[in-house]
Amino acid sequence: MSIDTEVKLLARRRTKIVATLGPASNDTDTITRLIQAGVSVFRLNMSHGEHAGHRETFQLVRRLAAEADRHIAILADLAGPKIRVGRFAGGSIVLELGNKVTVTTRDVPGEAGLIPSQYENLADDLSPGDRILLADGVMELEVEGIDGTEIRCVVTQGGVLEDRKGMNLPRVDVSAPCLTDKDKSDARFLLELGVDYLGLSFVRRASDVGELQSLIADSGGHAGIVAKIERPEALEDADAIVEAADAIMVARGDLGVELPPEQVPIAQRKLVDAARARNKPVIVATQMLESMIEHARPTRAEVSDVSHTVLSGADAIMLSGETATGNHPVLAVEMMNRIARQSEAYLWEQGAFGDFDLRDRREPPIPFGDAVARSSAQLSRDLRVRGILVISHSGMSAATMSSARPAAPVVSISSSDASCRRMALMWGVVPHLVEDEGLDDGIAMARERARNLGLAEAGEFVLLVRGFHADPVKNTPSITLLRV
Ligand code: PGA
Ligand code: MN
Repeated sequence: MSIDTEVKLLARRRTKIVATLGPASNDTDTITRLIQAGVSVFRLNMSHGEHAGHRETFQLVRRLAAEADRHIAILADLAGPKIRVGRFAGGSIVLELGNKVTVTTRDVPGEAGLIPSQYENLADDLSPGDRILLADGVMELEVEGIDGTEIRCVVTQGGVLEDRKGMNLPRVDVSAPCLTDKDKSDARFLLELGVDYLGLSFVRRASDVGELQSLIADSGGHAGIVAKIERPEALEDADAIVEAADAIMVARGDLGVELPPEQVPIAQRKLVDAARARNKPVIVATQMLESMIEHARPTRAEVSDVSHTVLSGADAIMLSGETATGNHPVLAVEMMNRIARQSEAYLWEQGAFGDFDLRDRREPPIPFGDAVARSSAQLSRDLRVRGILVISHSGMSAATMSSARPAAPVVSISSSDASCRRMALMWGVVPHLVEDEGLDDGIAMARERARNLGLAEAGEFVLLVRGFHADPVKNTPSITLLRV
């Protein structure tokens, strides 16, 4: 048998790329090149920077996306109750195995044997025997005793601890709310700016999502919520969180510190499945091409990780430090693009699109929209349909169609540019803005669009799917099969 690894690529990548902006990339030239390299969603990280800087980056992305004539979403990620160590007099301290150290919530500079933290409830939340993980779990302390603001610990895993490194308390019920005061003020600022998605960090349960939803409603703004799954408690309430949120992120950075590392890939697979079963986009994040922060080429393991994530059917793959602070932001996106396209070509060759529809396992009757989406996926495979055009004002129908992972690209037609930007996150969806959703003569419109978008040539098939409605009485979807 001969094995051909260079499978013919599809015309369009289905998996979307999310790139975090930061000092290495938030300039006109780099953002332009990142758009050309295939970024669909830019992420602003509220853990760093000031409002003025984020406003500038936001406006720059909007302008450059318009110039490139692309629908690009902006996801602003709220910092959440991330616990960090404070600053040290000398910038860092050395922690040696077996040594005693004190963690204090007093506002003092750190020094050898003394680690400050600004998280005021730390001493209340911890108990003797609890573990404190530092700097993404590289170092570890065990709590021996607590006196007021002072937490006495022993070093169980040593290393060099630098200013502002993260602190994780696995299995500790952290009392800080998921939405901190800073998050609330950041969220109001971001809603006024008009971001497309807000990332909610350290979600524990569905009601955390509800809290941000209320804030959004009260502010009169609009933004989808991306619930970041990075606490073990969130896994226990995963279905309800997926249901409440507009999208989820498998935030492997913190999740990988909170959970034993070998459980993270399993959590990832199950979360991708859970999100797809509910027609919600899922982003897989963190350390995807980590070594490209420094080097021009990724490790084989990283390439494999990205590929397996694509094969599992995630909507989007994300870059963090690689594009925010790394040496090769554009190369990292180009690499991700290549890996995704090659892996998708393999899925195509295997006839796997539309086939890995997990909902097959559900007992009928399944929801109306899901059944229509599934049938469309089936038709698109059986007839080698060149495109599925779906009229989707809000993006809900696009999400439903996308979740069936059909073989043909989903061209999602909307008269709302905000909806088009949100749809940029969805697997296989090509957002298409129109002045009028053109229901009068949908068929003529579908033919014209399919030709103009270069989807199909005369004689080839496309599907037109329309008639979805949130009101059950008006919900009368239909699938029209037509030759262009
Ligand atoms: P962060 O989230 O980069 O905001 O920490 C992602 C993660 O934890 O993986
Ligand atoms: Mn995180």
